Amino acid sequence: MEKIIFATNNKHKLGEVQSMLGDGYQVLSLADIGCTDDIPETADTFEGNALQKAAWVHDRYGYDCIADDSGLEVDALGGEPGVFSARFAGKHGDDAANNALLLKRMQGQKQRSARFRCVIAYVAGDTAPRFFEGTVEGEIMEEPSGRAGFGYDPLFRPAGWSVSFADATPEEKNAISHRGQAVAKLVECLSAKSN
Ligand code: IMP
Repeated sequence: MEKIIFATNNKHKLGEVQSMLGDGYQVLSLADIGCTDDIPETADTFEGNALQKAAWVHDRYGYDCIADDSGLEVDALGGEPGVFSARFAGKHGDDAANNALLLKRMQGQKQRSARFRCVIAYVAGDTAPRFFEGTVEGEIMEEPSGRAGFGYDPLFRPAGWSVSFADATPEEKNAISHRGQAVAKLVECLSAKSN
């Protein structure tokens, strides 16, 4: 089984990627390789942040590494929260506060279109970094729904759905999600490499 490092400790993301990569790969987290570094994420694009994280692990720890950066772009907010999605309300990863702030900023707003975007950077050996992207369009709901998933899932209804991402099973979400699309492209690249 091949090992690949995913430069995150987010259990939801690790689970999503492991289930899509299947039994041929063991996906290890930062904790699994003993990395407790505060990896900088200071770029102003998803691509830049994903590369920063994957290159950090590859260069310092010597592993092939993938890293993602993802977030929500809300049209009525000029693309916010974008690369600041995880810390929209101030504290990194405070989903409840982020969702509360999003609802507040969207109060009375009729134009509710939004999208999740994900970019995965893959840094391996001495080849140039590769990037895989995914986007899912949808809209911001008037109130939260569902208990599954993470982040803004309870407020995001994908286009053509009557329920939120947080109402869906992981399989239903992965089948269309931004991360699902990006991982599918990564899987295609990895399987071409191993054939
Ligand atoms: P990252 O870990 O820097 O990529 O942070 C991305 C942030 O965007 C997360 O903390 C969430 O707030 C949000 N986000 C990204 N992907 C998703 C998703 O699939 N569902 C809900 N929120 C997401």
